Amino acid sequence: MIVVLLGPPGAGKGTQADHIVEKYGVPQLSTGDMLRAAVAAGTPIGKKAKAVMDAGKLVSDEIVGAIVEERIEDDDCAGGFLLDGFPRTLVQAQMLDAMLEKKGRELDVVIELRVDEAELIERLRTRIAQTRARGEERRKDDNEATFKKRLKVYRDETAPLIPYYEKQGKLRTVDGRRPVAAVSADLDAILDGIRA
Ligand code: AMP
Repeated sequence: MIVVLLGPPGAGKGTQADHIVEKYGVPQLSTGDMLRAAVAAGTPIGKKAKAVMDAGKLVSDEIVGAIVEERIEDDDCAGGFLLDGFPRTLVQAQMLDAMLEKKGRELDVVIELRVDEAELIERLRTRIAQTRARGEERRKDDNEATFKKRLKVYRDETAPLIPYYEKQGKLRTVDGRRPVAAVSADLDAILDGIRA
């Protein structure tokens, strides 16, 4: 199965991705994780991406498109994969369609985790307070000003993917405001449906 998890920052994509990986045995392809690994390793891509990521903006479509195209060639992706954080622009969605078509593969479903912005900001404040209480270090982009920029980027650049995938008949929307287990149960119902 080839699945895209779509949703604003802080909607719980990472948490739900972990659940899907565990239950369905597909690898999770998170472009955010891949880019952070490139930054940590100091690769040329990492050097280019760092400032953009810290500012909450989007890395170029060419860079993330190339990273994903290379990654889905790996053997562990032969039976399917879960995309988390990609595509994030219409250009990336078109790139994904083109790369899958080239390989004779097809996207099964796009699951949108829907959470409104007020709730996302509340969640961020809780997360920051908890991290501070534990004395841990935060992700560079984990502060309210940058988070609000990331929300705006989602609204402007990524939300247009919702009608895009709706038109393709691939979109399923899940209410992401509920407890983690309730959201996971909805995802299971969708994914069991496409496997059957
Ligand atoms: P994430 O962990 O998915 O929230 O991604 C963290 C940051 O990595 C984002 O704020 C972007 O700067 C960058 N990034 C991740 N995925 C993409 C993508 N598909 N397109 C552009 N930038 C991305």
